[in-house]
Amino acid sequence: MDIMDSINPGCEELGDENTLPGISEGEIIVIRSTRRKKNISAYRQGGRIVVSIPARMSKADERAMVPEMVAKIRAQEAAMTMSEEALANRIDELLRELAPEITLRPACVSWRAMRERWGSCTGVDRSIRISDRLKGAPGHALDFVLFHEAIHLQYFDHGPQFKELLARFPRAEIASAYLDGYEAAETALAAPEALKKLLHRHA
Ligand SMILES: [Zn+2]
Repeated sequence: MDIMDSINPGCEELGDENTLPGISEGEIIVIRSTRRKKNISAYRQGGRIVVSIPARMSKADERAMVPEMVAKIRAQEAAMTMSEEALANRIDELLRELAPEITLRPACVSWRAMRERWGSCTGVDRSIRISDRLKGAPGHALDFVLFHEAIHLQYFDHGPQFKELLARFPRAEIASAYLDGYEAAETALAAPEALKKLLHRHA
């Protein structure tokens, strides 16, 4: 169970004094797992990268291996990420296919670190921002957010006209289910951290 790993007393969060070179403080969490004998794994958890290493790995090996794993995760993410130009092109395709009556196009589309929202559209300067949590998301879920924000170019609120256009998106429930599931997982993953703090307070 991963939760047991997370509250294992062997876990540590890198602080000031042992931040690894090239990695900003607080971005990486190293978990020493007693269940792991040899293998090392890394995964993205919200804004952080969690690296799980065997409990007995030496500090020297940790310093050598962790940056390597972090680089691997970043390379994977870069390969999966659409460029901002590609996002704008995709919006154009979606509007032409699903809502040809909207002729407005965004002046700029950009990735943003947004934890609370999936996207935003500012009518004044026609700029669309997409949460970087969607980097690597299934195309269908990303399309759904792109289309939603693109409709806002024409309709600022979620009124009947907005809803009528959004309803044209095929299998919107599946895309919504992915987004809801992602948010639920984020909440669930945050729980062990809170639990850890609670345990330390009573230690
Ligand atoms: Zn909206």
